[in-house]
Amino acid sequence: MTFALKRAAESSAATTTSLPDVQDKVAAIIADIRERGDEAVRECSARFDKWEPEAFRLSKEQIDEILARVPDQVITDIEFVQQQVRGFAEKQLESMREIEVETLPGVHLGQKHIPVAAAGAYVPGGRYPLLASAHMTILTAKAAGVPRVIACTPPIRGEVPDATVAAMHLAGADEIYLLGGVQAVVSMALGTETIAPVDMLAGPGNAFVAEAKRQLYGEIGIDLFAGPTEVLIVADETADPFVVAVDLLSQAEHGPDSPAVLITTSEALGRSVIEHVEQLLPDMPTRDNAEPAWRDHGEVHVVPDLDEAYRLADTYASEHVQILTRQPREALEKMRNYGALFLGEGTCVSYGDKVIGTNHVLPTRGAARYTGGLWVGKYLKTVTYQEVTDTDASARLGEVCGRAARVELFEGHARSGDVRAAKYGTADLPW
Ligand code: NAD
Repeated sequence: MTFALKRAAESSAATTTSLPDVQDKVAAIIADIRERGDEAVRECSARFDKWEPEAFRLSKEQIDEILARVPDQVITDIEFVQQQVRGFAEKQLESMREIEVETLPGVHLGQKHIPVAAAGAYVPGGRYPLLASAHMTILTAKAAGVPRVIACTPPIRGEVPDATVAAMHLAGADEIYLLGGVQAVVSMALGTETIAPVDMLAGPGNAFVAEAKRQLYGEIGIDLFAGPTEVLIVADETADPFVVAVDLLSQAEHGPDSPAVLITTSEALGRSVIEHVEQLLPDMPTRDNAEPAWRDHGEVHVVPDLDEAYRLADTYASEHVQILTRQPREALEKMRNYGALFLGEGTCVSYGDKVIGTNHVLPTRGAARYTGGLWVGKYLKTVTYQEVTDTDASARLGEVCGRAARVELFEGHARSGDVRAAKYGTADLPW
């Protein structure tokens, strides 16, 4: 029997709709920036971030000054992590084969991958300087071959986030703007007097940022719906309850709207994890985020066996799923819905977030039912082409095309087939 030791105060089950007040607010800001451009951007930045610099774009001199302020160890670590992210992204790129096949004699069909011309990267930073997002978005776009990559990040509590800017620069951003939230997303998407628009936007962010991307989708491309972070842990009786508690809180600290869910086959483990979380929370420096996240969105479910654990986990389609069981790799076969899977105690979501090399921009709020996370492939357009080099083949296709198009009442389409059937074959023009 499945039962809950702790339920969320509000439902954190998968949902694809966003909160109506966030939707309305974002729609109003988009409309305002559409109408008034830079003037509206400035007002939003002043209002939401108390940030009114002379220019939002950082000059080369400003970037050099910022780089000089960042401690050497931070730069070394950024370079190490960027190497891991680049290494994996390049291998992923290699897996994207271009194909050309001859499906009938003289009929050549092909597929290739073309990078978008310009991409915008949102690097979040309202609560924390999330510099790892710079590696994930900018560097991945560059690895995909995107010629122009621009990037925005907000000031953090009125200060320039030095390490984030360093990461953006080292990742290869062609333009860096200190601009946050909806105003950054809209500026990159639609363009303003001072920012040329891009073709595609990527990057995680809070509910406002994710909603802005959602509303602009269609006018520009977006990577995916990557909103407030979620974690779900599947654990059996072999898991260490202290590690489980620490790992749940590691994601709850992202923000008060971040769900942290445990599904376990062991009631004793579930109870122990709850105790550990309660002991850890009071001394957690990020308690302001982690405590409400755990209180309002924390869940602990006890299930009869691991098959039921995987089935229940799939209904959440959580951004991060951590497997702390005797045979963690089993989840690769048994689970379908997750942004990223973390197998065994040797790794954790924090490794994925910060250092290991897989991309941390991942689907949230149920989007893992239909998409994976950000990767080089998201910056590439998979396009097709065709050529018919054999006249007999073209005549044969023309005859079928004429008949097929007339079934659909498309006389114009049919005639394109007819002329080839007549010119290259023996058919007479039927009109
Ligand atoms: P953020 O940069 O996403 O948002 C900060 C901006 O929000 C500010 O610049 C401000 O302009 C805007 N804002 C704040 N309150 C507003 C309001 N009331 N109205 C309009 N605009 C407002 O930084 P954050 O807030 O720290 O959030 C980062 C988020 O990114 C977290 O929720 C985290 O979980 C998420 N995240 C998700 C992933 C993923 O892959 N899904 C990865 C990393 C981080």
